[in-house]
Amino acid sequence: YYNNNTLIYLDKKFVKASEATTDLYSQTMHYGYGVFEGIRAYATKNGTRVFKIKEHYERLKRSCELVNIPLDYSVQTLVDATNMLLEKNNLSDAYVRPLVFCDPNMALTRPKEVSIMICAWEWGAYLGDKHLRLNVSSYCRPHPRSIKIEAKVCGHYVNSILATNEAKDNGYDEALLLDSDGYLAEGPGANLFFEKDGVLFTPQLGNILPGITRATVLELAEKLGVEVQQGLYKPEVLALADSAFYCGTAAEVIGIASVDDTVFPKAWTDTLGKKLQDAYSEFVRQSEKTLRTTTAL
Ligand code: PMP
Repeated sequence: YYNNNTLIYLDKKFVKASEATTDLYSQTMHYGYGVFEGIRAYATKNGTRVFKIKEHYERLKRSCELVNIPLDYSVQTLVDATNMLLEKNNLSDAYVRPLVFCDPNMALTRPKEVSIMICAWEWGAYLGDKHLRLNVSSYCRPHPRSIKIEAKVCGHYVNSILATNEAKDNGYDEALLLDSDGYLAEGPGANLFFEKDGVLFTPQLGNILPGITRATVLELAEKLGVEVQQGLYKPEVLALADSAFYCGTAAEVIGIASVDDTVFPKAWTDTLGKKLQDAYSEFVRQSEKTLRTTTAL
């Protein structure tokens, strides 16, 4: 992820990743009480475009608010910091990872002060480009009355890691998690769509992370005149689908070959997923937004 020259943004300064330090008594280290984001930057004809950067930092701030972590930064400051970080590290096609972490505190109370770091590295398609073989996980997504499911909180990802490990241990590529009522929810790090008789379906908000890629896919589907329904669906409905895909910032749009060994019948090239995959990869590389730098840190 980094070498000796890599710079990260840490509390309004740029420092060497290899020299940055943190306190082992941080609440984030002990309790997973921190918040993060995952953002992608794309090289375009007119420079680097950090895709939906404002939406990501708005979600970061919302995540902080939802879990009582005080983050005293404007979206614009974080946008400027990210653009400078990419420029300083000479990155354009890159993954950007902001992390808000808490100061030393062993109590189970809200933090008084927090830190933010932003790092970036070159990262190919997170789930590869091979169509995924999923298993329905024995782990369900955390109940929204136990945690703030709409916040991207560090500790929530233990659930994602357990589900991924289980899927891989059982010979699958990736997990599919249900919610605690047994309805389809999402992947460990991606949202789910499936196609039946020319209509797309996706789990409604409430028990899932409100994915920015999911919102983009909904926008693109509307532009392409594709009908999308959002609701609560059981895995039996998915088993009868024609095709399915996952979407997320890191994964982008990636086809699903099978769920619990039930193979989707439609050839990928004929699916709505493929149409949206193409539309997505074109959309993210459109060069309407170019890299701007500013000294206003
Ligand atoms: N669900 C979960 C649990 C995730 O971690 C992610 C990745 N952030 C997503 C969905 C997709 O969200 P986004 O499109 O905003 O990356």
